[in-house]
Amino acid sequence: MLRHTPTWHEQELAHEAHPSLRPVVNATGVILHTNLGRAPLAEEALAAMIRVGPGYSNLEFDLEDGVRGSRYLHARDLLLRLTGAEDALVVNNAAGALVLALAALAGGKGVAVSRGELVEIGGGFRLPEILAASRARLLEVGTTNRTRAADYREGAPDGALLKVHRSNFRMTGFTEEASLSELVTLGRELGLPVIHDLGSGLLLEPARLGLPPEPRPHDALVAGVDLVLFSGDKLLGGPQAGILLGRADAVAAARRHPLCRALRVDGMTLAALEATLALYLDPVRAVERIPTLRMLAASVEEVRGRAEALVDRLTRGGAGFPMAVAELDGRVGGGTFPEHTVPSAGLRIPDPEGALAARLRAADPPVVGRLDGGSLVLDLRTVLPADEPAVERGLSAAWEGRGR
Ligand SMILES: *Cc1c(COP(=O)(O)O)cnc(C)c1O
Repeated sequence: MLRHTPTWHEQELAHEAHPSLRPVVNATGVILHTNLGRAPLAEEALAAMIRVGPGYSNLEFDLEDGVRGSRYLHARDLLLRLTGAEDALVVNNAAGALVLALAALAGGKGVAVSRGELVEIGGGFRLPEILAASRARLLEVGTTNRTRAADYREGAPDGALLKVHRSNFRMTGFTEEASLSELVTLGRELGLPVIHDLGSGLLLEPARLGLPPEPRPHDALVAGVDLVLFSGDKLLGGPQAGILLGRADAVAAARRHPLCRALRVDGMTLAALEATLALYLDPVRAVERIPTLRMLAASVEEVRGRAEALVDRLTRGGAGFPMAVAELDGRVGGGTFPEHTVPSAGLRIPDPEGALAARLRAADPPVVGRLDGGSLVLDLRTVLPADEPAVERGLSAAWEGRGR
């Protein structure tokens, strides 16, 4: 029998229908879900990517003088304006920003880090390995739970002092750490730069988003660090990027380093970042327009209202699941605020075998919830309003296809 060999065009069509990378609906309640692409972008950011993406742009062209320009100038002015930094540099991600900062300021030299800050952050970011990759020598100082400024001095660093935000864990009990200002004082005395890996990059006051106290890039700059670095796609709510801020000479050293070329950021990312940062010029607008911030700021009543309305629509549509609107504990995610829960609400549907969860993951677009004690939980806080109909369709189809 002759088998039909698919033509290129047929293969292309099949792939178009089922590409490997696809949008999904995040109903996990984890706002910055690293496995689901972290921060969803603001419409303004998306529009900027579409404007700049398809054709040529002035990525590295100075339109005024008609000569070669620098890609690193595009989001720079906004970053300086929003944080008060002397200079700023955007690279591919925060891990890259840290490698670059260490290589540029302390390559081949000893960098003192507290034993309490030798973190591992999801997806293979282990601080000792990052240091090794940047060719800086790790000098562990202090102890797991207590590190004082004097310990940094005793480590005899000749490259830099590095302070790392613990991000995904907390220490309680008998703990002590050197403050950034203490490290800045010590760094000046020893003639060494102070680098701060801040991680999440929250630009607004945490209380505005219902979050516990959290240092911001601006605070690190006021404390006098030479460089502070953070992610673009954590609490900033922008595209994947690593942002370095700080003293002009330190940023210039990073910009000159050959690794900067290897870690360089692309034009569409810069477009999205610039558009996201522009929203921060008005903090009220930032919370309204940046999905990460809007999700954090939404009241539990609002989220519960959306869950109730969804259950209503499903019931009227004939879906007979034993659904209940449940009070849930959401998470900020992205390795931030490990002990902070975000009161939330959503649907809880018995699903002892996880069959419904699997069916929803196979829907188009896939809907990803979480299994909790024999039930499927769909948290509405992280479902973008535009995605609600997809959740409704997925559940209705699952009801109609039950048992099959
Ligand atoms: C998340 C995080 C990083 C890594 O950021 P990416 O943008 O994912 O590379 C580095 N350091 C700290 C402290 C973090 O929290």
